[in-house]
This record gives sequence, structure tokens and C-alpha cells, in this order.
Amino acid sequence: MNSHYDLLVLGSGPGGYVAAIKAAQLGKSVACVEKSEVGGICLNWGCIPTKALIKNADMWRSLNEADKFGFNLENPSFDFGKIVQRSREVAGKLSKGINFLFKKNKVTLISGFGKFIDKNTIEVSDNEGNIKETVTADSIIIATGARPRSIPGIEIDRKYIISSKEALVLDDVPDSIVIIGAGAIGVEFAYIYKSFGAEVTIVEALPQILPNEDEEIAKEVTRAFKKLKIKMYIGAKVQKVNVANNLVDTVIEDKKGKEIILSSQKTLMAIGVQPNIENIGLEKIGIETNVGWIKVNKNYETSINGVYAIGDVIGAPCLAHVASAEAIHAVEKIYGHNPALVNYNAVPGCTYCQPQVASVGLTEAKATDAGHELKIGKFYFRANGKSLAIGEITGMVKVIFDTKTNIILGGHIVGSEATELISELVTAVDKQMTFDDLKNIIHAHPSLAESVIEAIHDAYNEAIHV
Ligand code: NAD
Repeated sequence: MNSHYDLLVLGSGPGGYVAAIKAAQLGKSVACVEKSEVGGICLNWGCIPTKALIKNADMWRSLNEADKFGFNLENPSFDFGKIVQRSREVAGKLSKGINFLFKKNKVTLISGFGKFIDKNTIEVSDNEGNIKETVTADSIIIATGARPRSIPGIEIDRKYIISSKEALVLDDVPDSIVIIGAGAIGVEFAYIYKSFGAEVTIVEALPQILPNEDEEIAKEVTRAFKKLKIKMYIGAKVQKVNVANNLVDTVIEDKKGKEIILSSQKTLMAIGVQPNIENIGLEKIGIETNVGWIKVNKNYETSINGVYAIGDVIGAPCLAHVASAEAIHAVEKIYGHNPALVNYNAVPGCTYCQPQVASVGLTEAKATDAGHELKIGKFYFRANGKSLAIGEITGMVKVIFDTKTNIILGGHIVGSEATELISELVTAVDKQMTFDDLKNIIHAHPSLAESVIEAIHDAYNEAIHV
């Protein structure tokens, strides 16, 4: 079967499906080729099922602290199989939701693996590699995403040395797990598995966990993780990982150069991702890459006219919401609109361990390095009435202003609901708002959000409750 479309999208993650729906809404004929579940890693094996597991971890922690709230719960217990099943059901529901949106918007879903034949033609094969159909399109968007990478020489065997995908569907809570890498994935799984009783050890190469976050914020998480008795080796090098007798030995050199063997039931590799560019015919049509990531211009057009790339496959920041923003920009540009450029200075970054971490814009170190003189405001949740009422007093809000312009450069939150509270600061950073723009905005009382305005006031010594 041969068909022609205005737009063909390769991949149906938060980049691909948003691009497909957006183009359909603009009246275009659209097909989306997907080799696996609709919704990509985010919905099926990333953002969403992890949040479901984290909800269970949060509930389990609360149940275990019930006596603090005056409840007598004797011997609470959990069924890990049911917990995993719930997370799979949530992922399945959302994937079905995207199928529904495709139908509603008349996007044709083509199941199979797509490969370029020429810059306007994609050949789709089934799981066995048999060619199913050839599709042509005026424009093509590559949104094939990324997958976990490993340390060279260490193979993710999916049984003992696992990636985030296996970590989402373990049969049971392992007695012990070593987590290599303390970015968002490493830290979230550390929190999940520690909450359910595993002995968790983190190994991070850089000098702090969550290395992209402000140092002071990462210190708060480190303190909280120490309280949870998560072991952390920071500034450590992984030398090798050996599997023997149903155990994994992760051999590391700690920051002082001492060799340590960490023995565990599982070792989770969470050191970042690599682009899915193999076997899709990029070389055939001459699409340029940069260490694997597809090169694009500011409108996401690749080195080949009419072929675009968005999302993880073009490189950092590899985040679902960035992919979706790039999708909308690319589609609007293709169809003659004049969209604003994606503002990479105002991308929220969220990590959903407890305490949650959320940030936007520059850290204190990056703002200083960029030559700004800073006014910094802070507010600790322990001084916020709502935080005390709900028993969530860990953490703080930190905001960073430029002294000369009084423009907000960055906002950083660690604590309960940080990932919800950050949106206000994203708007402020995106719109380059000044202290005067922000200072009189009324925040509901009592609310955790009052901590945001108090931190803003504190930057200019106008806070009431500090
Ligand atoms: P990451 O890049 O965020 O973090 C990887 C971590 O591994 C870094 O801290 C890095 O310093 C460390 N590392 C690298 N090599 C190492 C080594 N040899 N030994 C020890 N540590 C090493 O990657 P990730 O956590 O795997 O996540 C993958 C992608 O998915 C990221 O782009 C991330 O932002 C995204 N993601 C986002 C969320 C979220 O927003 N909540 C959740 C999960 C994943």
C-alpha cells in the first residue's frame, strides 16, 4: 500500500504525537509511524509510570508515619506486584488516550519501523523486518527519541544490570540496588526503592547529586537522602561491574581514590541517554549528526530541506515538555506561521523524589559565571504555615535576581509540591520579569506558594516572615 501525506512523523512520543496532532489541527493530512506503544518512552516507560510508583512510595511513607498524625495503623503492608500493575495501568490508559486523540484529529497511525528511502519517502517494516508499506510526505519530522546509555564495556543485561525500563517492572523489591548516576532517573529510583525497603547506594561521578541543580538545593536533597539512609558515593568512578552467583559487584573508586566493591541484587544504569538514530536511513539521505544527535537549525530543520527533527534525538535538554514545545514550533514554521523561538532559558526541570526538586533559569553558580551581580532571596518551608499544617517542612525556595536590571534570572525549589510551585517562576523567568513586576502579586493564604513570594521579597530585604 502506498499513501501520500502532507506530514509524516517518525515516532509518537511527546515530540512526535504533539507534532502530528498540531499539524492535523492546522488542516493537514498526517501520518505517524510508531514501532512500539503510542506515547513513547515518557508515557509508557518514563515520566508517567515513575510518577505512579512515586505516588505509592509517598503513600507508603505516610502510612508508616501515620502515628504522627494520630492514626493507629497496625502492621501496614504492601503488594509490590499490585503497585507495579497500577503504574502499568496508568501508562496504558494514557497511551490509549493518545490513540483516541489521533483518531479524533484524523492522524493515521502506522504501526511499524520507519526508515528513509529518500527525503520524502519512508518504508515501514513490521517486527519481523518485512516491508509493510511505503509512505511519502511533503515534510517529515524525525522524533525517534533516545534510550538509556551505558558505560562503555558494561552491558545492560536487563536482569542484573538494568535500565530504567526494567526498574519499572521488577517482580519484587530487591534487597539491595546500586544506582549509577544521580540525575533525575537515578534519584527518583533511589527514592522509590528506598521507600519500599531496599538498601540503596548511589554512585555519582560529579561532585554533587543532581549536578544540574543549584548546589544549595542539591545539598537539601543530600541531607534528606542521608536521613532516609541512602548511601551516596559522590565524585566516584565506576571501574567495572561483574555478575556472579546472582549478585552484581559494582567496583568503584571513591573520591579519595580508594577501591570499593558494592555488592547488590541489581545495578541500575542511569547515566543518561543516547539518540535513536540507527537503521532509519539517515546516512542514505545525508542527514548530519553531531556525536549522534541530529543537527538542526533554530526551526528544527535538519541539513536536508523539508526534513525536521525534534525532541531527545536532537540532544539536551532531553525532556518531554521541551520535545512538545519544539514540535509545535516546527509544525507552525512548516505551515507558514511565525512562531517565537523556543526559550531554552525558561525550561522547568523537575525531579519527583521527596523532597521534590524543581528549577528554572540560572543557578547561583551559573549566574555568577555569566558575570551577573546577584540579589538572592530564600524562604524555608519550615516558616510557612501551610507546610507546618500538612507536615511537610523540608526544603526551601531560592530566587536569583540581577542587581543591575532587577530581572529574575533563576528560581529553585526543593520540597513538597516543588514541581507544581515552579510554574509561577517559569512565567517570571520566561517573561524576564523584574522585582517590581512580581512583588505585589497576591498569593493565597495559607499556601505553599506563599514561600515563593516570600523568597522574592527576601531578595530585596522586604520579607515579612524571614
Ligand atoms: P542525566 O543526564 O539527567 O543524569 C545522569 C547522571 O549520571 C549525571 O548526574 C552524570 O553526572 C552521571 N554519570 C554519568 N556517567 C557516570 C559514570 N560513569 N559514573 C557515575 N555517574 C555518571 O540522565 P538520566 O537521569 O539517566 O535521565 C535521562 C534523561 O531523561 C535526562 O535527560 C533527564 O533529564 C530525563 N529525565 C527527566 C526526568 C524528569 O524530568 N523528572 C525524569 C527522568 C529522566
